[in-house]
Amino acid sequence: MPYSPNKREVDAVKLRPPPKLSIVVPCFNEEESLPLLLEGITKLNDILVKAEQISEPLTLVLVDDGSSDNTWSLISNIKSSFNIQGVKLSRNSGHQSALLAGLMQAQGDIMISMDADLQDDPIAAVQMVERFRQGDEIVFGVRASRTTDSFFKRTSAHCYYRLLSVFGVELIPNHADYRLMSAKARDALAMFGESNVYLRGLIHRLGFKSSIVTYNRAARVAGESKYNMRRMVGLAIDGVTSFSVRPLRLITLFGFCVASISFFAIVYAWVGWMAGAVVPGWTSLILPIYFLGGAHLVALGVIGEYIGKIYTETKARPQFIIDTKIHTNAKLDDHAE
Ligand code: UDP
Ligand code: MG
Repeated sequence: MPYSPNKREVDAVKLRPPPKLSIVVPCFNEEESLPLLLEGITKLNDILVKAEQISEPLTLVLVDDGSSDNTWSLISNIKSSFNIQGVKLSRNSGHQSALLAGLMQAQGDIMISMDADLQDDPIAAVQMVERFRQGDEIVFGVRASRTTDSFFKRTSAHCYYRLLSVFGVELIPNHADYRLMSAKARDALAMFGESNVYLRGLIHRLGFKSSIVTYNRAARVAGESKYNMRRMVGLAIDGVTSFSVRPLRLITLFGFCVASISFFAIVYAWVGWMAGAVVPGWTSLILPIYFLGGAHLVALGVIGEYIGKIYTETKARPQFIIDTKIHTNAKLDDHAE
C-alpha cells in the first residue's frame, strides 16, 4: 500500500522551520523594569528553546532611548542565557523612533517588539512564533481587556480610536506595539522613508498575511508611563495627519456650509430691508464675527499641521542617531567561562 502521511505529519511538513528570533525593546529610563523584563524574557527563551520553536537562543535587542538613569550601564552588563544586543541612541528620540531603530538593527528571521515594563505578557510571544511558523508574516498582539489601565488611560484610548476612525485612519483597536514581524515585513517597512514614523499605522498598511493574538495587558511592573497627556495628544494628531487628509476636506466642507448659510442670511436681510423691516443688528453681526474668527484660526491650525509635516519631511532628517552598539553572544560567553 502506498505511504500516505497522517494529518499531524502533513501539518508538520507545512510548518516553517524554527526561526531565529530577536525581541526588540525600546527603553527610556527603565532601570527599575529591566531586571523584571530579563526574568520574563528568560522564561520565554526557556519555553521556546525547549519546544524547539526557535533555531537558537533568542536575541534581546535593547534600545536605550537617551535615558538619564542607569539603563545603559545595566544593558551593558547583562548576563543571560540568551544573546543581548544593545543599541544606545545619541539622544531621546521618542518611543516610535527608538522602536524603529531596534527593528532596523535586529537580525534574524523574525522580530517581536514589546514594552520594557512587562505590560505585554512575554509568554504571548510563544503563540506569535507559532503563527509565524504557520505562515503569517505579521502577528498583532491585541489586549483582551483594559482593566489594569487607569480610568484616564482607558478613556483617552477610547477617544483616540474614535478620533482616528472618524478621520478614516484604520488601526487595529487595542493593539499597541506588541507584534511579530518577519524579516520580509521589516524590510518592506524599511522602504518607507518618512521621518514622522507611526508604526502602528504603517505596519497595518504593509499588507502581508497577518493575524491577531490576544493577551491580558498587565499593569506596569515599575516606573511610570512615559506617555503624559501632551504626548498622547501629539500621538493622536500625528496618527491622523500622517494617514489622512480628511481634516482638510472637512474644512472645505465647513467653508461651503458657512458660505451657503451666509448667502441665505444676505437674501433675508436684503428682503427685510426692501420691506422696510429693521434687521436685528448687533447680535447677528458680532456673533458670526467671533464664530468665524475662531473657525478661521482652527482651519489655519489644521492646515499648519500639514505644512509642518511637509516641512519636517522635506528636511529628511534621520529618525535616530546611534551612539554605541554592543553584542554579547550567550553561547560564546558560556565557552569563555
Ligand atoms: N519609550 C522610549 N522613548 C520614549 C518614551 C518611551 O523608548 O521617549 C519606551 C518605554 O521605555 C517603554 C515603551 O517605550 O518601553 C512604551 O512606553 P510606556 O510604557 O511609557 O508607554 P505606555 O505603555 O504607558 O503607553
Ligand atoms: Mg507601557
